[in-house]
Amino acid sequence: MGKVYDVIIIGAGAVGCAIARELSRYNISTLVLEKECDVAYGTSGRMSGVVHAGFNNKTGSLMAKLCVEGNRLFEGVCSELGIPYKKTGKVLVAFDEADMKVLEGIIERGKANGCEGLRLIGQDEIRAIAPGICGIGGMLSPNTAIFDPFEFCIAHAENAMDNGVDFSLESEVTAISRRNDTFYVTTPKGVFSSRFIVNSAGLYCDRISAMLGVDNYRIYPCRGQYYILDKVASDLLDIPAYPVPRPGIGGLGIHLTPTVDGNIIIGPSAEYLEDPDDYSTTPDVMDKLFSEAKALLPAIERKHIIGNYCGIRPKQAPPGEGGFRDFVIKEEEACPGLINLIGIESPGFTAAVPISFMVSDMLRKHIDLSPKTDFKAERKAPVRFRELSREEQEKLIKTDPEYGEIICRCQNVTRREIRDAIENRFGARSISAIKYRAWATTGRCNGGYCLAKIVDMLIHDYHMKPEEITYRGKGSELFSGEVK
Ligand SMILES: Cc1cc2nc3c(=O)[nH]c(=O)nc-3n(C[C@H](O)[C@H](O)[C@H](O)COP(=O)(O)OP(=O)(O)OC[C@H]3O[C@@H](n4cnc5c(N)ncnc54)[C@H](O)[C@@H]3O)c2cc1C
Repeated sequence: MGKVYDVIIIGAGAVGCAIARELSRYNISTLVLEKECDVAYGTSGRMSGVVHAGFNNKTGSLMAKLCVEGNRLFEGVCSELGIPYKKTGKVLVAFDEADMKVLEGIIERGKANGCEGLRLIGQDEIRAIAPGICGIGGMLSPNTAIFDPFEFCIAHAENAMDNGVDFSLESEVTAISRRNDTFYVTTPKGVFSSRFIVNSAGLYCDRISAMLGVDNYRIYPCRGQYYILDKVASDLLDIPAYPVPRPGIGGLGIHLTPTVDGNIIIGPSAEYLEDPDDYSTTPDVMDKLFSEAKALLPAIERKHIIGNYCGIRPKQAPPGEGGFRDFVIKEEEACPGLINLIGIESPGFTAAVPISFMVSDMLRKHIDLSPKTDFKAERKAPVRFRELSREEQEKLIKTDPEYGEIICRCQNVTRREIRDAIENRFGARSISAIKYRAWATTGRCNGGYCLAKIVDMLIHDYHMKPEEITYRGKGSELFSGEVK
């Protein structure tokens, strides 16, 4: 029998990675098991990238409390771990007096939840804050922010690793049993054991819980589709702009959100699905996204669109009900040692850090969480050549000539940055692992120019066979064989 970990965390999304980092502060052993070939492959890599302020959530709910707390902590965590973050604020746009009335209620709820600075604004102010946005007025939330969700997960996971947490990717949990206060977790890489299990499996949290006989949860997947606009449209908007939310639509409405990298995203829709892995986008919904976004910001044009994607919400409320279900974060009485995180939909990313504190508090009741004296709180951010001044770029090129060769022309990513991305701490070698670390292939040409160069590096510098190169792990191979 191998090592018995103190804690096994199932799932390396934002929540699993934040918990891993939090637990790495203490003298315990922790393992993260993730079914995919990299972190952030689930909902956490497929969302809006907004640090919510907490006014949308039901007063008194865990969601509201953790969102407000998460918003307060987010900037500090991003600065500690080198995660791109920008406090943009956010506007909710009213189209008529009835919308303004709804906004008054939202401000009241926000105040009750502990959000600061929310206020109504008139048409002139909305035009000054977000020129080009329509509407008769709206609400300003000064504490809303945007951030890089991939880097959040990568940074938390890397920092957790630096502080002693083990990660096992491509390790789908297929069964769990419990004997004599020890859990035995079956994966394709073998059976791992632990004293505690933290179930942060996102869309699959109900199935993980059921593996341990706690089968009273059901997750209803609800898809949200997005468009991505080219950076040429970045001047059109630099603050997230949302419509006034309508009850029962399953989301916050189609909004326009600038990303920290200078694109604008449009979305998300809200459609219930049977299959939690159905990441397809559909023409009818895409048309709706464009027309609703154009109603908010008429200057956007179809020629600005460079891509699309979707994410899936792990909802506890069944379709048609439009109801509210709070996060469930608890140690299960029916299965001591199992900490379940159920229904961590929006604002789950904003809440990830306070959720990690809740989990460590639950564990503290059972195990000694004595702090490590050598915990390293900081992580060095990767070089982002495109964000540096000309002088800084020249200096870097002198230290390493690979900074002098641009591989991704749309996003100005250098050969050295691609190399750093390939040599990541997790050994993740898929194209998307490189994309989300270096931001290559994300521009208007969608990898038309740089993909061949990245593949060439993987084959010649890293000795991968062409058939081993995948977009997102098994089943997404780029090459099937030789043509001659
Ligand atoms: C369209 C959309 C927009 C959103 N926008 C925002 C926003 O702007 N701001 C915000 O705060 N929140 C937002 N959210 C919510 C937020 O994205 C989620 O709450 C958060 O990402 C949940 O993180 P997680 O770690 O719980 O789940 P996930 O990121 O889904 O991670 C779960 C992980 O578990 C793994 N896993 C599953 N089953 C197994 C298994 N059997 N074995 C091993 N691993 C397994 C999965 O592969 C996955 O990596 C949005 C969500 C959606 C869908």
